[in-house]
Amino acid sequence: MDKQLNTSVRYLKGVGPQKAKIFSEAGINTIEDLLCYFPRRYEDRTKFVSISEVKEGQIQTIKAEVLANGQRQSWKKQGFNIFELIVGDRTGRIFCVWFNQPYLKKYLKVGSTLILYGKVERYGSRLQLVAPEFEVIEKDSESAAGMVESLNMGRIVSVYSLPAGITQRAFRRLLKGILDEFLPKLNDFLPFDIRSKNNFINLAKSILEVHFPSSFEWQKKAYERLSFEEFFLFQILLVLRKVSRKNKSGIAYKVDESAVNSFIGTLPFKLTKSQELVIQEIICDMAKPEPMQRLLQGDVGSGKTIVAIVASFIAAQEKYQAAFMVPTEVLAKQHYESIGYRVSGIGYRGKEIKIGLLTSNLSKKDKEEMYSMIQAGKIDLIIGTHALLSEKVTFKNLGFVVIDEQHKFGVGQRALLPGKGVNPDVLIMTATPIPRTLAITIYGDLDISVINELPEGRIPVKTLHFSRKEEGKGYEIAKQQLKLGHQAYIVYPVIDESYALDIAGAKKMYEAFKVNEFRDFRVGLIHGRLNQSEQEQTMLKFKSKELDVLVSTVILEVGIDVPDATCMIIEHAERFGLSQLHQLRGRVGRGPYASFCVLISDAQTEDSQARIGAMIKYNDGFKIAEEDLKIRGPGEFFGRRQHGLTELKIANPLTQMQLLKKAREEAINLVGKDPKLSMRQNSLLKDKLLQRFPEYEDLMIVG
Ligand code: ADP
Ligand code: MG
Repeated sequence: MDKQLNTSVRYLKGVGPQKAKIFSEAGINTIEDLLCYFPRRYEDRTKFVSISEVKEGQIQTIKAEVLANGQRQSWKKQGFNIFELIVGDRTGRIFCVWFNQPYLKKYLKVGSTLILYGKVERYGSRLQLVAPEFEVIEKDSESAAGMVESLNMGRIVSVYSLPAGITQRAFRRLLKGILDEFLPKLNDFLPFDIRSKNNFINLAKSILEVHFPSSFEWQKKAYERLSFEEFFLFQILLVLRKVSRKNKSGIAYKVDESAVNSFIGTLPFKLTKSQELVIQEIICDMAKPEPMQRLLQGDVGSGKTIVAIVASFIAAQEKYQAAFMVPTEVLAKQHYESIGYRVSGIGYRGKEIKIGLLTSNLSKKDKEEMYSMIQAGKIDLIIGTHALLSEKVTFKNLGFVVIDEQHKFGVGQRALLPGKGVNPDVLIMTATPIPRTLAITIYGDLDISVINELPEGRIPVKTLHFSRKEEGKGYEIAKQQLKLGHQAYIVYPVIDESYALDIAGAKKMYEAFKVNEFRDFRVGLIHGRLNQSEQEQTMLKFKSKELDVLVSTVILEVGIDVPDATCMIIEHAERFGLSQLHQLRGRVGRGPYASFCVLISDAQTEDSQARIGAMIKYNDGFKIAEEDLKIRGPGEFFGRRQHGLTELKIANPLTQMQLLKKAREEAINLVGKDPKLSMRQNSLLKDKLLQRFPEYEDLMIVG
């Protein structure tokens, strides 16, 4: 059959349905996937060492002749087969051993010449190679210079992350076959001028060199070109999205600055410089006819909510409706109350701003009523959860959308709410800020604002780490705070304890705390299995100080604002991600008091130690996010929800920042010249984009 790049690997020689299934689990379905399945690392097997120079403890490559072979059973372990070789070159001889691979005898015959690659270890008085990789050299394949054309030896060899059942050698062989057949057919979709300007090698050469490097220098060139290409495709998409948005006609708000200022004047605090600046940026956007899409980055506790409220207030002033979506019920309620309190009585041209709350927890009747009020335009500002996304919610004239804690929503979900209006202005907020340069490139379709300071008078939270044996010390800190009349959170990773994993759970610890550690205080429990109104009741009790201690799961992570809470104890801190730990810590230190975050953990792995170390070292969300990115890598950090980044197979925005910037510049440049990618020299590129991002076809329709 005639094979294409999109042909299933199943039809390849030596693959078949069984292996195809295994490949599919690794994300390899087509021949193209196979070509783009990049190595995890490389091994330099170019340098042969003579046996007399072999060093203990090193990984080395030798070329030698098989002098003897034999098998024996281990005298220590029943049924344990040891296969041994003695190989030699002009300088000496050395043992090689393999365990439980008796079939090797068939391949490794006395008299044949091998290239061996493996670790040299001492066994008694002798040195040996333990389970080395090997290649048998066919006598006539050796070139005059003694070098061998080989996929696995005598060269820089790529090593892949492969699913069980597929060996490195088999994979390399398969790849080689494909490369031979398909490289000549690969068209380079990167426009020639971009390639030549930046000295990028072409696609076919890159694919070849990344799998079978002729030198590390070429491998680097291949890696650079392929990384650029990934960044570039993603950046073009973002730039196209931004351009198409700016071409739409949205609402040009006439902002009444004196009304805004008098509203700000009613707040019980003075805005920080950053808050004022961001409000100015938003006002500017709102006044323009193009729809705003602005990302507001700010550390937890930096005061993003009030910025969103001011903007919603502006929209409401002009008789547009605003919608404010948050990820949890408790948070929606909290916003509803605090916002309601801020804007109640504030009106414009005799009309008071009406606020509504919509969550899935409302009774059917209340929901229906809210739907019809929203539709009739009787609600100016609706605050809610995912419930706002329901088809039943229709607006009279939605003009402003706020999405709080955006990382808690999927990309599709974030687009749904603005879709309920005609190009409304959108403000997206995140408490997992990333460095600006990175943000510009990753959220390249959005405009970006940053709040980079905390309100005045905040005292940085002091973070401490105790082992589980010392957890009593953590409880002492909590008790001291409670005695001052403050409140404390104690967070567990799970609701129910697990004996198998040796983890304590919130439920049982709550029962225990009530009768021992915190018996003199009022203790509450909150977790995701309680129904919404139970959760809410407890939360409200904690807020109104009818409870002193709140035992909880990670449900606390977003948004909750209780200024008197000054102590956060996180049990089994190793089981939380770094950003998550920082968000939890953000629940304290919100008032004018000194606050504490106590991490209790017997952190074992390097990663968990790094996370705890970062928590102790940094209080700044930007630093934390940077560390988190380093520890987890961009794919994990941004999660599957952040479209485009998970597509990155080879490029890394952290280590290849310059290349990413270049890709962005080139993308802006290209879209500027050819906004619909309709020029002939860009047609291959356009095909590639459509193939990679089919859901964005409308951005690239020839027009
Ligand atoms: P986040 O950015 O995490 O969403 P919030 O908007 O919840 O933070 O604000 C945290 C707390 O800080 C709230 O209690 C809020 O009322 C208060 N706050 C916001 N801005 C200021 C300010 N400029 N001065 C003092 N307190 C402020
Ligand atoms: Mg918030």
